[in-house]
Amino acid sequence: MINSDEDVKNIIEKERDFFNKSKDAKKILTIILRLCEKYSFVKNQTYPRPSHPLEEKRKDPYYTLIAIILSLRTTLENETRAVQNFMNRYKSIEDVLNSNESELAEVIKIAGMPQKKANTIIKLSQYIQQYYNGDIWNAKTDSVQETRERLLNMPGVGEKSADCMLELGFDMPSMVVDINVFRTASRIFGEKWANNPDFSNKKQIKSIKDRLENSLPRDYLTYQIAHTMILLQGKHICKSKCKCENCFITDCCDFYREKNKEEKQEELEL
Ligand code: SF4
Repeated sequence: MINSDEDVKNIIEKERDFFNKSKDAKKILTIILRLCEKYSFVKNQTYPRPSHPLEEKRKDPYYTLIAIILSLRTTLENETRAVQNFMNRYKSIEDVLNSNESELAEVIKIAGMPQKKANTIIKLSQYIQQYYNGDIWNAKTDSVQETRERLLNMPGVGEKSADCMLELGFDMPSMVVDINVFRTASRIFGEKWANNPDFSNKKQIKSIKDRLENSLPRDYLTYQIAHTMILLQGKHICKSKCKCENCFITDCCDFYREKNKEEKQEELEL
């Protein structure tokens, strides 16, 4: 469990031997340590979950899944308010099952698409009730792959939501490649599509997921830390139009190196 930003550094330091084993892993270690100096892990955790650093947000993974659904296509602020409204009104899955779609839609409307999200939440809750006796923990097995497949069979759960549930709800090592992680990691690793990353391209996403997972020890806390740090870097600095002039990991970025090489070459040719 991570309770403070100090814990974050200790967890990473403990894995130093693993990180020294490959070029990609060494690079990720340097990047994580540097980003940890810049961003607070603890302050940037949103979804309620069993291992949330803040006690008031330590919740059953059912609420993690609900938060993931509510977070789709909305702002962080509206997502947070909708999740809080949901948690205030529904204290258990039974409460949701005893409710109805229009009441639920009213509770979560700040998150946008209330009817659609309410419909998904009701169907999902009925599914968990039917197949897992109303307890989402029963969907977790020892295998990441098997648990992932079980999650993907649930109504409204796609690949990214399943990875989020594995990494945050079930504390299992499965890297979440959201749009910020995808763009930033593509550039850091200097992928051939780094100049024009296509988030609808499943092959590219899988390739980044594999590369990150191969560069990290199979430890869910390290995954949560790496995911948070790379996401924040993408959100604040490595945006679609990257702010390389403000970046503090330029020396670790293959895209930056290549871009500079090309610019110098162009200068020489003038
Ligand atoms: S150097 Fe530029 S492209 Fe590389 S990570 Fe930083 S902002 Fe992104």
